[in-house]
Amino acid sequence: MISNSKIWIVSDVDGTLMDHFYDLTPAKETINWLQRLGVPVILCTSKTKSEVKIIRDDLNLKDPYIVENGGAIYGEYTDGKEWEIILGKSYSILEKILNSLSENINFRLRPLNTLTDDEATDLTGLEGESLNLMRDRHWSMPFLNPPQNFDEDLKRLCEIYAVDIFRGNRMSHLLSKNSNKGLAIKKLLNKSNNSNVQIIGLGDSPNDLPLLINSDYKVVISGIKGPNHILLNQLKGTEFSISEKPHGYGWKDEVFKLITMLLNT
Ligand SMILES: [Mg+2]
Repeated sequence: MISNSKIWIVSDVDGTLMDHFYDLTPAKETINWLQRLGVPVILCTSKTKSEVKIIRDDLNLKDPYIVENGGAIYGEYTDGKEWEIILGKSYSILEKILNSLSENINFRLRPLNTLTDDEATDLTGLEGESLNLMRDRHWSMPFLNPPQNFDEDLKRLCEIYAVDIFRGNRMSHLLSKNSNKGLAIKKLLNKSNNSNVQIIGLGDSPNDLPLLINSDYKVVISGIKGPNHILLNQLKGTEFSISEKPHGYGWKDEVFKLITMLLNT
C-alpha cells in the first residue's frame, strides 16, 4: 500500500540514514515519530532487495522501497502480498555492457560481485552472510571506481550503450538509462495516484542526484568530512540544504526541521 500522506520522505540509506558502520540508531526515534504522523519513509538505495528487507524489518517500515539505484521498486498490498515494478536492465545484460566498456577503454572495470570475500569486506565493511545479501543483484551493476581519467571516454560510451554510470563514495554503478532513483520516484508517484505530494529527498553522493532533483525539498547529508563536493557542484543553481551533522544525526535534524515547517504551513 502506498501512503496517501501529502508528505513523503524519500531517503538514501548508506551514508545518509546510517553511517558507514551501518548504525541506524540516530534515525530510529525520528522514524517512529514519522510513523505516528503517518508520513512514509521510502528507502531509495543502491542496496539489494535482500539487504533492504532486513533494514525495513529493523525499522519496522511498511512503506514501498526502491532498490538497486532505481532498478526496481517493491511494496506490499494491504493483504501483505508483494508488488514489484522493474525499471532496470538485467544483471547479465549489464555485465556484457560493462565488459564492452572495459574493452573500449582498455581498462578492466571490475564488478563488485567478482571481489573475494576479503576484498569485499575491505571495501564495504560487510562480512559473512551480509556479503551474500549484497551480491543478490538483479537490476544494477556496481563496480570498482575506475581512475578519473577514464571519465570522459566512459561518458561518451554510456550514450552509445544507453546506460549511465553513477560514481559513489565507495564504488560506481552501471545502470540502464531507464532506471535511476529519480525515475523510480516518478513511477511510484504515478502508481500512488496521490497528487500534490511534497517530497523531502535526502542523499549524500552523486548517485542521489536524480533522487534530489525529483524532490521538492533537497537535503544533502554530510559525512564526517563534510558534504560530497561533486554532488554540491551538480546541484548548483537549485535550492537545497546541507546537514550540519553527519549521517543519521544530520538526517534526524533536517527531517525534523522540514516536517515541523510543513506541518505548520
Ligand atoms: Mg549514499
